[in-house]
Amino acid sequence: VKVLAQKAQVDGLTGLWNRTYFDRRLAQEVSEAVRHRRPLSLVMCDVDGFKRLNDERGHPFGDMVLERLAKVLQGGRTSDVACRYGGEEFGILLPHTGGVEAFEVADRYRRQIEQLEWHGHDGLAVTASFGVAELSAGSQQASPEELLSAADAALYRAKSQGRNKVVSASGYGAGAQR
Ligand code: GH3
Ligand code: MG
Ligand code: MG
Repeated sequence: VKVLAQKAQVDGLTGLWNRTYFDRRLAQEVSEAVRHRRPLSLVMCDVDGFKRLNDERGHPFGDMVLERLAKVLQGGRTSDVACRYGGEEFGILLPHTGGVEAFEVADRYRRQIEQLEWHGHDGLAVTASFGVAELSAGSQQASPEELLSAADAALYRAKSQGRNKVVSASGYGAGAQR
């Protein structure tokens, strides 16, 4: 029963936690961070131009891209929680981690992804954009919805600034990369 319950929370393609789990864990981590006055960061990641990648190279290739990116996004601390939020979007929860550090983590993922090589697709670079938001230590009236929409807004800015970028909701990092 326990194994079945766990399976229902894992994404079948990537093996990451799924959206159901993400929603529950986000709420839980926000309340713990507020209660214990600890920092918490959320990184949202969206693959750039994924529709075109699918259309031009086929869905099986698109699926393989998602699987490999998921492996990159799982490469952090064991306490980090990488989830498939939906489609080609991922959410990573970083407990006990402030925004500056989370920005560095996201930028490392960004660089790892752009450097991946794709067998049979010479010269192809797959890239992703990232939005980072933090719930700073001691914030008293924080909600999961606010944290998520702050990360989403930052991700939207990363897209409109040209993609393959990390943008932080608190402002640092914006436009600071190359
Ligand atoms: P942007 O740079 O603005 O993010 O552009 P985009 O093309 O990545 O964004 P859009 O949201 O238009 O496209 C997302 C695509 O992801 C559309 C859908 O066909 C594809 N997709 C969603 N889930 C899966 C999946 O499980 N496998 C594959 N192969 N494709 C998927
Ligand atoms: Mg998307
Ligand atoms: Mg996309």
